[in-house]
Amino acid sequence: MSNLKTFIPVPENSDFTIYNLPYGIFSDKRKPRIGVAIGEKILDLAAVARLGHFDKITKERKVFQQDTLNDFISLGKAKTNAVRAKIIKLLTSNRSPLKNNNRVFVSQSAATMHLPVKVGDYTDFYSSIEHATNIGKMFRDPKNALLPNWRHIPVGYHGRASSIVVSGTPLHRPKGQVMPKDAKVPVFQPSARVDFELEMGFIIGKDNALGNTVSTKKAEDHIFGMVIFNDWSARDIQKWEYVPLGPFLGKSFGSSISPWVVPMEALDPFRTRGPKQDPKVLPYLKYTGKQNYDIQLEVGITPKKGEETVVCRSNFKYMYWNMLQQLAHHTINGCNMRVGDILASGTISGKDETSYGSMLELSWAGSKKLKMSDGSDRVFINDYDTVTMRAFAKNKEIRVGFGQVSGTILPSKK
Ligand code: MN
Repeated sequence: MSNLKTFIPVPENSDFTIYNLPYGIFSDKRKPRIGVAIGEKILDLAAVARLGHFDKITKERKVFQQDTLNDFISLGKAKTNAVRAKIIKLLTSNRSPLKNNNRVFVSQSAATMHLPVKVGDYTDFYSSIEHATNIGKMFRDPKNALLPNWRHIPVGYHGRASSIVVSGTPLHRPKGQVMPKDAKVPVFQPSARVDFELEMGFIIGKDNALGNTVSTKKAEDHIFGMVIFNDWSARDIQKWEYVPLGPFLGKSFGSSISPWVVPMEALDPFRTRGPKQDPKVLPYLKYTGKQNYDIQLEVGITPKKGEETVVCRSNFKYMYWNMLQQLAHHTINGCNMRVGDILASGTISGKDETSYGSMLELSWAGSKKLKMSDGSDRVFINDYDTVTMRAFAKNKEIRVGFGQVSGTILPSKK
């Protein structure tokens, strides 16, 4: 399926090709509703539903008029995939009733994007072996960088859902307790070590009841799609607080996601084999087939007055633990997932030092300076810096991209 042609102009290197069709929540002069990105346009699904085009799939025209994707996703994959097939038909057919119908298309430049899902719960994993190894080398024992559980468990922690924001939302530098080097007591101050974490997040597409588990075999049916995820982190606050229960206020001041949710079906051509897992995992974590995805990632920092400098290029395919294993592990105790929950990958670092997915690693705990376009240096994120992450998958024929997630760090509130 690589010969589809839409009548909507799609610029070269556009993330939003006919093979992608990501879902988002947008508004113009009218209230927020569901749209699908195509080229530089948004197809207004509320308007398409009003014309009756989805009536054979679902009688619920209202789900397309919601200000979150949750009800739409809850229709289930059979129906959402039928909607996707119908949209492809409507955008490619020579005799499409949408051709020359300007009322169903909105320019992306004229639209405001909103948080695509109501996130009930958010969990962050720690699934890149390169990232976990780097952190272990920096803060523990370089010879035994990985903790004994790491190759057996997809390690994770419960994040904060309420502070997940959509791309473009600025965040204030958090204040908190930090323990200065060689000090005896902590001090209260604005974080001096605000950092990004380059991650991908997946959105739960199907509930599992409390007490039930989702096997790696069934997990795919429970994953609706993916977004780019920036797990902002205040390293100095994190360092003092994380023992023994893990990340807390150093993380919960905000996480940013990209506005377009790319459905897993669009990513299918980019499946690839994951790294060999050694030692063998327990039976409930076993999986078959190509369950990693070749998605190219990059991070840029734009100072207040200056051009963007790309500081990291990585790839989602490096992940040691895949999404099926993360979901199977998360539910193995009977924990219930709900539609709209986000499970994020953890920082995605590669082997090469230009592929490290956080400033903590890129600056090696602040010991190495990164040059910006305006001549200034960075070891962490300064006030008024904008961090932008991009993600796309590409082969010889097609391109499927996520657009971007960007966020600016403002000074601490007084
Ligand atoms: Mn993280």
